[in-house]
Amino acid sequence: MMSAMRESPRFDPTLLDSEDPPPFTLHNQGGRPRFILTCDHASAAVPRHMDGLGLTADDLSRHIAWDIGAAEVTKHLAAGLDAPAYFSGYSRLVIDCNRPLTSPTSIPSVSDNTQVPANQAVSPHEAAARAAACYWPYHRQISGALDRLIAAGEIPIFVAMHSFTPRMSDGAARPWQIGLLFEHDRRLVAPLKAAFSAQVPGICIGENEPYAIDGPSDYSIPEHGQKRGLPHIEIEIRQDLIDTPEGAELWAKRIAEALETVRDTAQPLEILPDVNHNT
Ligand SMILES: [Zn+2]
Repeated sequence: MMSAMRESPRFDPTLLDSEDPPPFTLHNQGGRPRFILTCDHASAAVPRHMDGLGLTADDLSRHIAWDIGAAEVTKHLAAGLDAPAYFSGYSRLVIDCNRPLTSPTSIPSVSDNTQVPANQAVSPHEAAARAAACYWPYHRQISGALDRLIAAGEIPIFVAMHSFTPRMSDGAARPWQIGLLFEHDRRLVAPLKAAFSAQVPGICIGENEPYAIDGPSDYSIPEHGQKRGLPHIEIEIRQDLIDTPEGAELWAKRIAEALETVRDTAQPLEILPDVNHNT
């Protein structure tokens, strides 16, 4: 054992300052709410007093900290669809906004074989403080917006934007360019596949690949989409396609076009009963 091991930096909300990012940002607030976009893993930011969670800057630039390219695509998508978009402000290594707080990976102690020093033996008190500062403000904002829209008779399509690595940790290549993820409500899947295939002949679309939505381990789709019965989809894009400004813009354009087509053709879009428990 090393005797001079650095003490792990602990989260303390009183140490957040004006140079730390807000817990969420909302783009295009006045946009038409035909779509509500979210980006749970938009940021690799860590509160400044947490010393990068004890990780190197290199580790914090990797996909373990955030979804590379996803925020860029979502910004273009918000503009293309004229839709509001919500971006979480902090790294998923601080607290993962797409995990229930009860998930063992809500505050991951290890991510893709990298130990996260500040996430070892996090007390329930500290976990709750991270959630209060970096998780709930983002999700409450989204919940409030969706509830107000539904109360006003609107049926927005809820779209959760993510990105995935081109290779698995064992080196195996992932062939899909994009993935369409859902759990119980698949009504947008076939129309979206048709729309993407019409735009990009031969496109390789993963249906619940490279991940599947799973109620106990995912948060945003079950909570914001399924629980409210809203039409919804989680869109995953392969990172090597969107890690340049041109790539991000191109895929945002394709996704905007596909979503518009589906919004126009998949009518009527209805509120379904809570499907989280209908298995
Ligand atoms: Zn993600």
